[in-house]
Amino acid sequence: MEYVTCNLCGHDDTRVRFPSTLPEGTPPQNVEAFRCTSPGYGRHHTIVKCQNCGLIYTNPRFTGEEILDSYVAVEDPLYLEERDGRVLTFERHLRPLEKIKAPPGQLVDVGAYTGVFVEIAAQHGWDAFGVEPSHWAVEQARERGLHMIEGTLANSGLADNSLDVVTMWDVIEHVPNPFGEMQQAERLLKPGGLLVVHTMDIDSGFARLMGGRWPWLMEMHIYYFSRRTLKHMLEKAGFTVIRIEPQGRYLRLGYFATRIGGFSPLLGRLLSKLFRLLRLNEMPMPLNFGDLVTAYAIKT
Ligand SMILES: [Zn+2]
Repeated sequence: MEYVTCNLCGHDDTRVRFPSTLPEGTPPQNVEAFRCTSPGYGRHHTIVKCQNCGLIYTNPRFTGEEILDSYVAVEDPLYLEERDGRVLTFERHLRPLEKIKAPPGQLVDVGAYTGVFVEIAAQHGWDAFGVEPSHWAVEQARERGLHMIEGTLANSGLADNSLDVVTMWDVIEHVPNPFGEMQQAERLLKPGGLLVVHTMDIDSGFARLMGGRWPWLMEMHIYYFSRRTLKHMLEKAGFTVIRIEPQGRYLRLGYFATRIGGFSPLLGRLLSKLFRLLRLNEMPMPLNFGDLVTAYAIKT
């Protein structure tokens, strides 16, 4: 494992915010831990807070190379099963984005995984493609006819000043160098282009209430932004932040009933029956504890 300095301000002065819940010397987890649907709740290494700028991050951590290798190797058939909820979430995520920048134009989704957002953006008229390190996920997306680049923004071969929109949904908290990732987006966007970053907010009321039991404290998350540190880093990378606002997820009620069934089969069956009777199966249910936020930033 390696010790890293603060990715936002470069200082090396931290205090422990959440002590490790893993036994000392726990070997690198196999790629299971890096699946999108990985449970892994409550398992994390030491999480520290920079005394200079307030950025919260995992330290020490696996090396950047080990982290990227884990994502390259990841396969996650469960993610495909949960496609419905993600389609719904991304359809909703596209609306506020399109109030700022409307199609047509070139849109790149970073960490596109199996391409759910790329597909929806393309349906909305965007010239959309995805950048994704997982070979398996890229293959899944290509089978659906989507335009994918296997790798990362830095080695994508995309031209400078060429893109209208770059999106990063639940990605920035996983990458070894989030500031570098924002700089790459800045390089590739046209002046006036839009970067959209969705991540957890460790300063939200819900996160504060849950403390060490906040479910997003997980081994695969290495950066924990607040709205303040997210804004600060985006500005440092050359963006003007328009706004940062809470944005939750959506589940179909029918899918929600099947999840409840995992805890209580009887209740799950009752709810399934009820939703079917009332024809509510397809109805979207927002899940928003205010601890997931989306930042909209313009390249200046
Ligand atoms: Zn710092």
